[in-house]
Amino acid sequence: MSTYQKGWRFFWAAASLMIPLWVWFFLVPPDRSLIFVLMAAPTVVVLTGYFACRCRICGKSAFRREIYSERSLVGTMINPVAFSPEEFCSRCGADLWEQQAHRDEHHSCSDN
Ligand SMILES: [Zn+2]
Repeated sequence: MSTYQKGWRFFWAAASLMIPLWVWFFLVPPDRSLIFVLMAAPTVVVLTGYFACRCRICGKSAFRREIYSERSLVGTMINPVAFSPEEFCSRCGADLWEQQAHRDEHHSCSDN
């Protein structure tokens, strides 16, 4: 499985948890407090996906679009985090569709 495909799996996992909660939110108005608690589940999936789907060359998350290239606090605030993973790494240009995302192989930034 590529990093790109893995990113989409996290997207669908989060969406399949979140969409029923949104439907419930609008259909059952008096019982909304529990929905906010249950929203923790898709939030955990989103955060896991963000940190798990990284470019193996530069380590940037596939969900972050690096428009502003400087890696500083300003860059962190400007660069948006998207719902979908990107096909090509916006930091180093690696093809995330081709790049295999194996959990057992460790490639650090110094490998390239
Ligand atoms: Zn990269």
